Amino acid sequence: MRTTTTDAIVLRAYNLAEADRIVVFLTRSAGLVRAVAKGARRMKSRFGAALEPFTLVKLTYHERENRDLVTISNTEILKSNFDLSSQVEASEVLAYMAEMVGEFAPPHEADERMFRMLSACVEALAANADCSRTVMRYFEVWLLRLAGLFPDLRYCSECGVELKHSDEVAVDIEMRPRCRECQPSGNSVVSDAAMRCLQATHQLSPARFAERYRLSNSEDAELADLTHRLITRAIDRRPRTLVAR
Ligand SMILES: [Zn+2]
Repeated sequence: MRTTTTDAIVLRAYNLAEADRIVVFLTRSAGLVRAVAKGARRMKSRFGAALEPFTLVKLTYHERENRDLVTISNTEILKSNFDLSSQVEASEVLAYMAEMVGEFAPPHEADERMFRMLSACVEALAANADCSRTVMRYFEVWLLRLAGLFPDLRYCSECGVELKHSDEVAVDIEMRPRCRECQPSGNSVVSDAAMRCLQATHQLSPARFAERYRLSNSEDAELADLTHRLITRAIDRRPRTLVAR
């Protein structure tokens, strides 16, 4: 039996039998982990509020060989994000992030960048829940980028020329960008504002991004259209938790 201690974010939890819960975590050192919390449904559970979605915890668990499900031995709350669950839009975004990380993060395989990206997005939401749509757009771009599914929008994918915001950049179905000279007819042209936002995600943290880019409804819709197309292709279905607004 092996014991592991790692930082972890609670993605979701569901009931198991009479007294237990199963909790899905994104961990820093072991990727996606599904764990049994024994006795978590009892009134005086030792886990307290540590298993609420999007709580950042120091998690200790043990695992037996060839078992997918591990057993939690201890949790220590590093940051509770309980306040967020009472805010409708922010909690919708969190549910969506949980579903997407569950799809994109490799089980039992460390993905430090995914962990850092999710933590930073949750932090940005906690700092300012009003910007949840903007944080969601940022999250989607990075989710795809970390999965190697988001092309570099700084250069034309055909001739390699550097793309400026005002260049009438067009993208094909896989989001490969093309400069004006290289684009076949029929590709959709990305607006200046959307290009600016997409390129800014490279340099900025989600909190800074949300501060600087207050997306209008049309910009938000344009970005969402681009990312949802790629996400739907990647997972072969529309995300269940995606709420149309
Ligand atoms: Zn070109």
